[in-house]
Amino acid sequence: MKKIINIVIVLGMCLLLLSGCKSNKSNSLVIVTTNFVGYDFARAVVGDEDVEIKMLLKPGMDAHQYEPTPKDIKSINDADIFIYVGGESEEWVSDILEDLDSDETKVIKMMDSVNLKEEVIKEGMEEEAEEEEETEYDEHVWTSPKNAILIVKEIEDKLSSIDEDNEEAYEENAENYISKLNKIDEEIREVVSNSKRKVLIFGDRFPLRYFVDEYGLDYYAAFPGCSSDTEASAKTISFLIDKVKKEKVPAVLKIELSSGKIADTIASETGVSVKTFYAVHNVSADEFKDGKTYIDYMNENVKVLREVLN
Ligand SMILES: [Zn+2]
Repeated sequence: MKKIINIVIVLGMCLLLLSGCKSNKSNSLVIVTTNFVGYDFARAVVGDEDVEIKMLLKPGMDAHQYEPTPKDIKSINDADIFIYVGGESEEWVSDILEDLDSDETKVIKMMDSVNLKEEVIKEGMEEEAEEEEETEYDEHVWTSPKNAILIVKEIEDKLSSIDEDNEEAYEENAENYISKLNKIDEEIREVVSNSKRKVLIFGDRFPLRYFVDEYGLDYYAAFPGCSSDTEASAKTISFLIDKVKKEKVPAVLKIELSSGKIADTIASETGVSVKTFYAVHNVSADEFKDGKTYIDYMNENVKVLREVLN
C-alpha cells in the first residue's frame, strides 16, 4: 500500500514538473481539503466570497480507503490553503508536504488545532491484529463541536492572513458558524444532563471519543476509531448483545456509510432498532448535492441521543 502511494506521489510530482508549478492558477483563491468536514468548515468561513473549495474525497467514498491520485497531488500543490486531518488514514500527506512550497500553500492540520486523545481499545472491542508500538492519537478530532470551533477559527485565521481585503467577511462568517456550533453544544449538554442513561452502544467502529468525552458519555463498540476490520468475532458480538440487554438501550448504533452488518446482527438478537450516528467523515453524493452541513448531522445526532439515552 505504502509503495503504491509512493509511486502515485512520484507521478504527481512529474505531472507538476511537466505542467510547471502554479501555472494554471486562476485569480480566485483555492482551498483544498481532504475530507468532508474540512470542506464544510471552509465553506462556512468563505461564505459568498470568491474562493474555490475542492474536496479530494469523493462524496460517498470511505475516508479510510482514500488514496491520492496524481491530479489530487497537483491540486494540493496549486492550493492557497490545504486542510487535512493528519492521522493514520492520512499518512500519505507527510510525503507531499515535504515537497510543498510553504510560502505558496498554507497548511492546516486539524490535529494541531485541538488537544489530542489517544486511541483506546476498550473492554469488549476486537484487538488489533498487530500490536501498535507507538502511541496512536485518535484522528477524529472534529467529532466534538468544541473542537470544530477551534478548527473553524484556524481556517478563518489562515484565510484572513492571505486575503486581508475580505478579513471582515471571513470573521463574520466564522462567528455565525461558531454561534451555531455553540448552540448545538448546549443542546447536547442539555440532552445528556436530563437523560436516563449515559451510555452509547455501537455495533460498528468507534470514531467518537472526542464527542463522548466532551459530554461525559460512556460507550461500547466493536472496533476502535479507524479500524479496517469489518468482521467482528462471536465474542465481540455477544459482549455487545449482553451490554444492549443489560443497559436496556432502545437502539444499537452504526456509523454513516457503514454496512451496518454488526449492528443488524445485534439488533435482530435483541429486538432493538438500529440508528445511525454521524461521525461526519463523509456524506453521500445526494447529501453533498443537497448542501448538507456538519450542523445538520449534529442535529440528527441530538435526535438520536434523545432517543437512545432515554
Ligand atoms: Zn475514521
